[in-house]
Amino acid sequence: MEWIERSGLKLGVFPALEAVAPGLEVIITTRAGGVSAAPFDSLNLGGALGDREKNIRTNRRALLLALDIRPRMLARTGQIHGAQIAEVSRGGAYRGFDGFVTSKRGLTLAISTADCYSVVIYSPPERALAALHVGRKGAERGIIARAAGILGLRHRIDPAYAIACVGPGICGACYAVSREDARRFPRSVTRLARGVWHLDLEAFIIGELESCGLPSKSVFRSQLCTSCNPALFYSHRRDGGATGRHWTLATIRSAGECAR
Ligand SMILES: [Zn+2]
Repeated sequence: MEWIERSGLKLGVFPALEAVAPGLEVIITTRAGGVSAAPFDSLNLGGALGDREKNIRTNRRALLLALDIRPRMLARTGQIHGAQIAEVSRGGAYRGFDGFVTSKRGLTLAISTADCYSVVIYSPPERALAALHVGRKGAERGIIARAAGILGLRHRIDPAYAIACVGPGICGACYAVSREDARRFPRSVTRLARGVWHLDLEAFIIGELESCGLPSKSVFRSQLCTSCNPALFYSHRRDGGATGRHWTLATIRSAGECAR
C-alpha cells in the first residue's frame, strides 16, 4: 500500500491495481486529518461509538468531498459480524449486512473497521465488485466464500481472473483469542505463545480467497496491523473498545478517473 494526500487527509491506495484492475478504486482512510477529539482523534467515521455526531458528520463530509463522492452514491453497511451480503445498485445505509456486491459504476461501497479486515474482490472482465467486513465471526461463517459464490452465480465471474485487496487489520501477534475460538480455525493460522492462543486472521482470509480460486499473485495486502500502528489506525483491541473507525471505500470507475 502507498499513501496519497487529498485535502489534508492521509489515504492508503494499492498502486498495483492500476495495471491489473484499471477502473477499480480502493481507498483506505487513516485517522489523520479529521476533527474528532480523543479517543476518536481524528478522522473517526464510525457512528454510535461515543463520538459527537457533529464531528462524525464533518469527518464524513470532508472525506466524500476530498474524493468527489456524492453522498447518495455511498452504500454503507450496519455491520453485525455476520455473513449476509446485500446486492446493491444505489447508496444508503444497509442494516444487518456485512458485505456488498455490485456492478454499478460510480457506486462507492464503504466498509467500516478497527481491527477487522476489509476485503475487496473485483473481476475486471465483468466489472463486478464485492466489499466485505471480515472479522473473526464473519470469516468463520464463510463470508468470503459466500461473496465469491454470488459473484460467480450472478455475475458469472471466473475467480482465476479476479483480484482481491485485503485492508489493514489486527495481526496474528496482536490478536489473542480464547482456546475455543482458536479451535474453530485451521491449526495453520493459530499459534500458542506462552499459554495464549493467537489467531492470524489475515492468513485465514488469504487462504479463503485462494480456495475460492483467486491466484495468490492477485491478492494484495496492506501489510499493516491496526493495533501495531496507533498513529495511523484505530484498534478496538488495543484501545479497549474506546476508539473510532476507518473506512475502506471501493468504487468501479472509468480507468482514468481513479484517485491514485
Ligand atoms: Zn499487530
